[in-house]
Amino acid sequence: MVSEGLPSNTRVHVVGAGPVGLLLTALLQPMERLSVRLYEKRREYSRTRMVTLAPYLVADTAASYGADAIDGDSVGAIFDPLELEQGIALRKSIPSDLATLLKSWALGFCPLNSIERSISDLIDARGPNGVERTAAVVTAEDALAMLEPGDVLVDSTGSRSLLRDHLVPSPGEGAEGANTLKVRLEYVLVITFLYGQRYDCNEYCKYSKNIENPHYKFIPMVHRTHYDGSVSHVTGVIKISAEEYEAMPSRFDGGWLRSNFPEVARSMDRFIAKIKEETHGEILGDLEIVRIPLDLYRARNATNLRLLEGGPSDHPFASCPVFLAGDSAIGSPYFQSISLGFECAMFLAGLIAQRDLPLPVMLDRYELYIYKQWLRVYMRSKMIKHNKDLFESLDDPLALLEKLHIY
Ligand SMILES: Cc1cc2nc3c(=O)[nH]c(=O)nc-3n(C[C@H](O)[C@H](O)[C@H](O)COP(=O)(O)OP(=O)(O)OC[C@H]3O[C@@H](n4cnc5c(N)ncnc54)[C@H](O)[C@@H]3O)c2cc1C
Repeated sequence: MVSEGLPSNTRVHVVGAGPVGLLLTALLQPMERLSVRLYEKRREYSRTRMVTLAPYLVADTAASYGADAIDGDSVGAIFDPLELEQGIALRKSIPSDLATLLKSWALGFCPLNSIERSISDLIDARGPNGVERTAAVVTAEDALAMLEPGDVLVDSTGSRSLLRDHLVPSPGEGAEGANTLKVRLEYVLVITFLYGQRYDCNEYCKYSKNIENPHYKFIPMVHRTHYDGSVSHVTGVIKISAEEYEAMPSRFDGGWLRSNFPEVARSMDRFIAKIKEETHGEILGDLEIVRIPLDLYRARNATNLRLLEGGPSDHPFASCPVFLAGDSAIGSPYFQSISLGFECAMFLAGLIAQRDLPLPVMLDRYELYIYKQWLRVYMRSKMIKHNKDLFESLDDPLALLEKLHIY
């Protein structure tokens, strides 16, 4: 691979058109002398789960970017002021059609497939287009075969990334987990329901509505209740054990929970009864429940820089720059991943726009940026988990003290 910048006509292959691959494509699309090939294996956008974007994603000043109650201080510690200003400048350069969508998603809940469809439609509607779409399952071999000198390859295929474990020099190359650092925080049920009245939650509410739930506490997550004018959307988690996780199907409803895990269901029902007592509303429909492990992970190499640093190589992915984006690069629990993925997609689009940047510099800057975002989300997730652990022991001072670790 050459150490100069990208060629004057650059072709970018984006594998995976989930939210992050789509956003990256929409950011690259208006760039001159650049074309995008976007590959997706799904025929339809069918994921209806309600998601939300973090307000920092649409921040218009460095101060508002670091205003988060949980990790505002960390932002100042991890990023230089200049980096923060550059991030804000990048946001301000986002085309207005896309910026309007991002702002609307940061206001409240939205179905994931509506985010995907909106960006996908926007890409198709823009003209001249510059994006060629292919409906196909791409294999690592396919990815190699489609690369021509000067091309850029972006893997945005999600948590089961196509290329993540290929970006390490042999012998571990390709082996599952070879390039993945993973921290399992806990197992939870993610429970979502609609409620026919306004319902807002804060830490006092989480506490008082769980007072009679010594074991399974339902915790509406950070910014996870949203009233849209007629209905409140509520999503929260209940911690479960590894054994309970194994004994459950991946997705089920309130009826299944009541028949099979009555103690968990009773906690949930007590919480809901208190909401009703307070606000005199009703649950609309049933509970939607998925069981998931809450994992924090990152690709130790988010690009193929390390393959190149070893000098000339016949490694299959050493001929063109390769980047991991979104859940391919970093995964985080507690409903933050799309914002993180979008953040990294914006940075990557900004790097690709600097066509004369020597490729090793481009790759190095992306690695550093991903590492800093990893530090941020790692500290943030550990803090949320720690707060959650303390919260669960509030009525048991000895258990609480054991978790405090005061030096
Ligand atoms: C219950 C639940 C609730 C969540 N709520 C939130 C939330 O509120 N906020 C938030 O930020 N995050 C949330 N998340 C996480 C969020 O959904 C993911 O972080 C996000 O979807 C990741 O986007 P992505 O584009 O990186 O990957 P994905 O969404 O996984 O998209 C990857 C795309 O690549 C395609 N693909 C994969 N392999 C191939 C291949 N070989 N060839 C071609 N195409 C391929 C897939 O079909 C898919 O379309 C939630 C997750 C869960 C499970």
